Amino acid sequence: MANMAPDKVKMPEQDPKERARNFKEVTLGYTKEMAMEEASRCLNCKNKPCVSGCPVGVRIPEFIAEVAKGDFEKAYEIITSTNSLPAVCGRVCPQENQCEGKCVRGIKTEPVGIGRLERFVADYMMDKQTKASKPEHNGHKVAVVGAGPSGLTCAGDLAKLGYSVTIFEAFHTAGGVLMYGIPEFRLPKAIVQQEIQKLRDLGVEIMEDMVIGKVLSIDEIMDMGYEAVFIGSGAGLPRFMGIEGESLIGVCSANEYLTRINLMKGYLEDYDTPVIKSKAVAVCGGGNVAMDAARSALRMGAEHVYIVYRRSEAEMPARKEEVHHAKEEGVEFLNLNNPVKIKSDENGRVCSMECIRMELGEPDESGRRKPVPVEGSNFDLDVDTVIMAIGTSPNPLIRTTTSGLEANNRGCLVVNEDMLTTKEGVYAGGDAVTGAATVILAMGAGKTAAKSIDEYIKSK
Ligand SMILES: Cc1cc2nc3c(=O)[nH]c(=O)nc-3n(C[C@H](O)[C@H](O)[C@H](O)COP(=O)(O)OP(=O)(O)OC[C@H]3O[C@@H](n4cnc5c(N)ncnc54)[C@H](O)[C@@H]3O)c2cc1C
Ligand code: SF4
Repeated sequence: MANMAPDKVKMPEQDPKERARNFKEVTLGYTKEMAMEEASRCLNCKNKPCVSGCPVGVRIPEFIAEVAKGDFEKAYEIITSTNSLPAVCGRVCPQENQCEGKCVRGIKTEPVGIGRLERFVADYMMDKQTKASKPEHNGHKVAVVGAGPSGLTCAGDLAKLGYSVTIFEAFHTAGGVLMYGIPEFRLPKAIVQQEIQKLRDLGVEIMEDMVIGKVLSIDEIMDMGYEAVFIGSGAGLPRFMGIEGESLIGVCSANEYLTRINLMKGYLEDYDTPVIKSKAVAVCGGGNVAMDAARSALRMGAEHVYIVYRRSEAEMPARKEEVHHAKEEGVEFLNLNNPVKIKSDENGRVCSMECIRMELGEPDESGRRKPVPVEGSNFDLDVDTVIMAIGTSPNPLIRTTTSGLEANNRGCLVVNEDMLTTKEGVYAGGDAVTGAATVILAMGAGKTAAKSIDEYIKSK
């Protein structure tokens, strides 16, 4: 008989006041007892709606049943048969729109805490696993461009099938957004590196500092004997608003700000990465990236951090949990406001941002109500830093240096349902194809591509 408690077992967290000034992980994870209690809330539904909400098809009720019994090793085996980055997904997946959004328990009460349970199992097993042995080599070589979730998943799946896989990564550290974008306090970097080590144990070779399109082209990679290439180069090119004052000192993209802090460890005293130290920060945007930038700015010592978002909270694309955590920590939300102009002092440094109030009109093509400016409602917000987090698109470097690769009008690579691009033997997936999306969708694309690449090489 299932435990019919209406709410999820609460996950311990650092106190908001304390955590708003440190970079340690916010949520502390379940204990064994908490995990078993939460697992007992699952009804083990026959038609498994939760599984249909998971882009990599984790066998959710099966792993939860093992957690309820206390067999965490078995639960881990079940999860990792389809998901190679469970400690990451358990922390950052938008479960409310995926598995938990479909959970039957969620109709009347809180859904089962599937993400929390996945995280518990992955963390519990982190240091208990034996090193994976390398599968027997099948004589074929595949190259992967980009070591983000899509590239890592594609590489891992191919390595398990016996392929010799080399990942070419532009940065000096593998992980993609998991390393350079999502902050330490949401996703500890040691965990990402442990998950990547498991792929290395399978024989995946990762070559860092290799900017494809500059050091080597895709055609040159294919001439080196790689029979197929997967492009998982993400969408790291920041967008700006095109308003006056965006080139002033004190304005930067969220990507740059977060990369300095996360990848280059700018928050640590013993690293010499320069990062703007601010008193009052405006972060423009309402997605996960905006929340991460705002929460990082607080931790870097800012006294006031504002989210300036042109729609209302109901339309915010950020995960609910992130918005909730940001509010608890003291981020101030200026919803229904849009930046108009950034102003400077006599030294060319930001001193304020002019905004205009907005109201919601008729729904636009995205289905969300369109924000409309309220004439004459302009006001100045006193800030010394403006961080733009209004979206990113794929960097054009690879597509402009590779013949026969087609992209759409948003600069995203065109692929068919097998993730094959318009060039033979070249596959692509993740944000490079969809534009900025989610970790699990990128992983799903990497998985589909690995399957297609295997079929393509075997059919040759
Ligand atoms: C700040 C931030 C917070 C986010 N929070 C969440 C979240 O909470 N939950 C969630 O699900 N999603 C979140 N996302 C989105 C998610 O991280 C991405 O959708 C996902 O990482 C995409 O994976 P990917 O493999 O396609 O690309 P990426 O993770 O971007 O990885 C691409 C890799 O390719 C490399 N590369 C690029 N160009 C080249 C080149 N020319 N040669 C060689 N290598 C190259 C890059 O250096 C990078 O390592 C967030 C994104 C950001 C920026
Ligand atoms: S839908 Fe919810 S209750 Fe049903 S099997 Fe999935 S997790 Fe369990």
